[in-house]
Amino acid sequence: MSEVLVLVEHVEGQIKKVTLELLTLARKLGTPSAVWAGPGYSADAKAKLAEHGAEKIYVADAADITDYVVAPKVDLLQQLVSSASPAAVLVAATAEAKEIAGRLAVRTDSGVLTDVVGLEDGAVADQSIFGGGVNVRSRVTKGTPIIAVRPNAVPVEAAAAAGAEEQVSVAVSDASRTAKVVERVKEEKGARPELTEAAIVVSGGRGVGSAENFSIVEKLADSLGAAVGASRAATDAGWYPHQFQVGQTGKTVSPQLYIAAGISGAIQHRAGMQTAKTIVVINKDPEAPIFEIADFGVVGDLNQVVPQLTEEIAKRK
Ligand code: FAD
Repeated sequence: MSEVLVLVEHVEGQIKKVTLELLTLARKLGTPSAVWAGPGYSADAKAKLAEHGAEKIYVADAADITDYVVAPKVDLLQQLVSSASPAAVLVAATAEAKEIAGRLAVRTDSGVLTDVVGLEDGAVADQSIFGGGVNVRSRVTKGTPIIAVRPNAVPVEAAAAAGAEEQVSVAVSDASRTAKVVERVKEEKGARPELTEAAIVVSGGRGVGSAENFSIVEKLADSLGAAVGASRAATDAGWYPHQFQVGQTGKTVSPQLYIAAGISGAIQHRAGMQTAKTIVVINKDPEAPIFEIADFGVVGDLNQVVPQLTEEIAKRK
């Protein structure tokens, strides 16, 4: 079976869950080979990748891979596409990896599919396009399929594999050194999971009414181990920080469960959340358009419904 390259997403050596999802999906297409770019590789990382099906691990842990903006990672993947002739390259559909995917596609004269939410045999992908308004099935017909998959698209499945390590040295070209990373700032996210990776997201909108009242959204999120999101109306009003905005001009999330409280369901908000597996809506207006995409809906005042829900969840723990 051909290799399927999976670009590992990691922060300071900690592997992100989406990588394990990519390794799970990669097994449908061939034999997964993880590609580690940048410093931070460790025995723990190797074990985790092997436990999730990485038959091979290409390690390119020189510092200059991450000293410059995306291009060296493209150099690395281009080199591996040429030497390994993989059946496909899988990356996470994050802002950075989508840029890598696009550049790699140009360099290797290949097709690229982004915002993929499912993948079948033969690299047939389910894609959420036009801001989430349309789902299509697509297949790359030229070159090496390069596929950017949204976090939470599939549940992680472990599968023991060899995890055979292969050191790779990349010749970072002068052209790739033209944009240098000068500083990295850690996002303050407290104890909650990262918004785009969270399995459960609880979001509040204008209906929440004030910054102070977002505490009821946070309490519900904490009772479920969820991330907190917000509509643009809520972030523009200064009730919640902009980095938590979900939607066309905010973050795209694809959790197992999305709870929307006091959000009307404007197309720009839906664009960032409608591929969630299950959508629960709490809104006092039964005509609110968000009910159109809800799996479960509660017509009611969120000031009553949300605390009651939090209490009920606490009882069942
Ligand atoms: P509203 O539309 O005002 O809805 C509030 C809802 O709360 C109503 O349905 C109401 O019935 C309900 N409600 C009120 N009180 C209660 C209560 N006590 N209990 C229960 N329900 C209650 N929006 C985004 O979210 N994300 C984006 O990324 C985004 N990008 C945009 C980009 C562009 C170019 C443009 C033009 C707009 C964008 N918007 C975005 C804005 C979007 O069009 C909407 O204005 C916004 O999503 C509305 O937010 P909302 O649903 O919280 O507020």
